[in-house]
Amino acid sequence: ERLVGASTDREEQAVEAALRPKDLGEFIGQEKVREQLDLVLRAARARGATADHVLLSGAPGLGKTTLSMIIAAEMEAPIRITSGPAIQHAGDLAAILSSLQEGEVLFLDEIHRMSRPAEEMLYMAMEDFRVDVIVGKGPGATAIPLELPPFTLVGATTRAGLLPPPLRDRFGFTAHMEFYEPAELERVIHRSAHLLDVEIDTDGAGEIAGRSRGTPRIANRLLRRVRDYAQVKADGVIDQDIARAALAVYEVDSRGLDRLDRGVLEALLKLFGGGPVGLSTLAVAVGEERETVEEVAEPFLVREGLLARTPRGRVATPAAWAHLGLTPPRSSTG
Ligand code: ATP
Repeated sequence: ERLVGASTDREEQAVEAALRPKDLGEFIGQEKVREQLDLVLRAARARGATADHVLLSGAPGLGKTTLSMIIAAEMEAPIRITSGPAIQHAGDLAAILSSLQEGEVLFLDEIHRMSRPAEEMLYMAMEDFRVDVIVGKGPGATAIPLELPPFTLVGATTRAGLLPPPLRDRFGFTAHMEFYEPAELERVIHRSAHLLDVEIDTDGAGEIAGRSRGTPRIANRLLRRVRDYAQVKADGVIDQDIARAALAVYEVDSRGLDRLDRGVLEALLKLFGGGPVGLSTLAVAVGEERETVEEVAEPFLVREGLLARTPRGRVATPAAWAHLGLTPPRSSTG
């Protein structure tokens, strides 16, 4: 399993839950989003109303689930958590919606992956707090209107642009979550270390922050791996040397590239002279699926300015050569 991937196992999910900030004050970074959300929630509370629907967009691990729980906590409302792929039929959604309590927060992760019929049902539910439940099939089918209690939908998506405009327009507030600055990740790491009862110094936290790809989930995960190392190989205290040595063992490099990322870059540089090379060829050279290279490794490499996607194929940037300590061939600049 990749150190930088999504969290799948139960134990990790339990640790993540324990490290979740519980209110807006505890939530680190995302200043704009926090300020805006604070206003939205305060205003709703002052009116004694249910908060407007909120759309959260941003990369995995930036805190969308955390924020949805904070919204519920700040509104003193219960929360129900589900996801687009879990809702196959409109009936699945109708069942969830009709069982919501007044003011409840419904968190719909990966909302862009919901089925079409469910999506259309959601439009009406969001706007009028009403759904039409279809009973029967064919010409005899009838639509039974069902009133819903007012609720707050919190939708999460990796890209707001993936949503059909009619859905996007029904959110009263859209928050774009950015990648975190290293200084913010350092605060995340100090906070988590405190909760996990781990001793860490400033340079140790800085070292982990710099390799966390702007993502709190990765920062927390690297912290736990470094803690393991510090316990087994040293006295449990994390400083810069320990962090470096531990992350070398886990093959997370100084910029946060892992084995897959480095494999892709190395193939691009060493086998194809820096490109351009087609995605399929590159994937075969690395021994990975096309999709893995394109969706897992490349977004980060592109964001880091190490790789460019051009119409002629994948191309390494001068920074890629420098990062791997290699010299570009003279012809690779054209
Ligand atoms: P995904 O979309 O992949 O589910 P997500 O955006 O919902 O990811 P979360 O599950 O909310 O991400 O956050 C991942 C972990 O990072 C959690 O353990 C949480 O504690 C931590 N975290 C996220 N944002 C912050 C933050 N602003 N301050 C402190 N910790 C944070």
